[in-house]
Amino acid sequence: MSNVTMKTRIQEGKQAREYLKGIKNKRILIVCDKFLSENGAVTYLTDILCSGNAVELFDKAIPDPTIQVVGSGLCMMYQVKPEIVIGFGGGSAIDTAKGIIYFSMVKELVKKPLFIAVPTTSGTGSEVTQASVITDPDNKSKHLISSDEILPDVAVLDPTLTLSVPQAVTANTGMDVLTHALEAYVATGANAFSDAMAEKSIELLLKSLLGCYKDGNDLKARTRMQEASTLAGIAFNTAGLGINHSIAHQLGGTFHIPHGLANAILLNHVIEYNCTSQEIMNKYAALAVKVQLAEAKEDSRDAVKAIKGLITALMRCMKMPESVMELGIDRMEYEKQLKNMVDNALMDACFATTPTKIA
Ligand code: NAD
Repeated sequence: MSNVTMKTRIQEGKQAREYLKGIKNKRILIVCDKFLSENGAVTYLTDILCSGNAVELFDKAIPDPTIQVVGSGLCMMYQVKPEIVIGFGGGSAIDTAKGIIYFSMVKELVKKPLFIAVPTTSGTGSEVTQASVITDPDNKSKHLISSDEILPDVAVLDPTLTLSVPQAVTANTGMDVLTHALEAYVATGANAFSDAMAEKSIELLLKSLLGCYKDGNDLKARTRMQEASTLAGIAFNTAGLGINHSIAHQLGGTFHIPHGLANAILLNHVIEYNCTSQEIMNKYAALAVKVQLAEAKEDSRDAVKAIKGLITALMRCMKMPESVMELGIDRMEYEKQLKNMVDNALMDACFATTPTKIA
């Protein structure tokens, strides 16, 4: 039996602008980061939303948003009492908006606003998930809030917003998409619906990620990658994730390794571990056939090798570090933090749906 919630209305391309143009006479709070407010990207929204709307900006979102940032957003939420909240940016800004909405609902500070998510990276899928990842800097860990209240009402997908994403962020976020699709495919909550989304996501990613990396202005590739990202988000919102994410959250919370990069570094190790279960290995192999990385008659292990080879090839083409040590992290400090990271990874919400249990 599957439990699939489809709530978010997706507005893509030209429709996206038309939808935003139709918003009139509302109190709106936009949540973004300083980079997007200072480089003018947020004028995409403020220019469109000029018809009688009262627009306020909270631009204090930071990569791996903290409890403190969400707290200062809550104060603004209480002052503005917005009818609409718009999360504008990468996963960090959208998750900040989600954190602010979540805690203002818990504290009953305001009436529930309409929540619109406008992604400017193609990675997290946060525009269609009920998750928000908030960092606790004191405990050096990331925490997952999961609630239907923060599943966006509308996702505005305009790929032109992603044209300016730099190469390293394109690489990291692109590998985040691949991790979402692969983890969702083998997660304990996977079902026919999430499988279809994950398969399509990988199919689109294979056609577009390197194109986006090589030429950031390739709008067709950026469009496909944005679709791949949202599809993978729908897949994991339904199926759950696994140990790849539960460990990546600790690497991000402890050493500020960008989320997609942490996922990418772990991915082949997690696949290898998951394949200690023959059933999971067969599932990866079936996926490899579906996305034309392997032939149906191939042995499962060879089909899985094709997936792992693809991951290595993508990372090398995009000049990504392949281990934590390549990032210049001090080995002694890493070893000192290891026990805390392992303890937190085992308590991370994503661990609940990991397919191959730790013996
Ligand atoms: P990010 O939001 O941290 O952004 C990375 C950098 O790219 C930032 O400096 C940002 O200013 C910049 N940027 C964003 N859009 C840009 C653009 N169009 N042009 C140029 N620069 C741009 O990165 P992310 O990978 O999108 O999000 C990561 C966060 O999302 C992490 O905190 C992670 O834990 C979380 N996450 C959430 C979910 C979810 O379902 N809620 C899923 C996966 C990850």
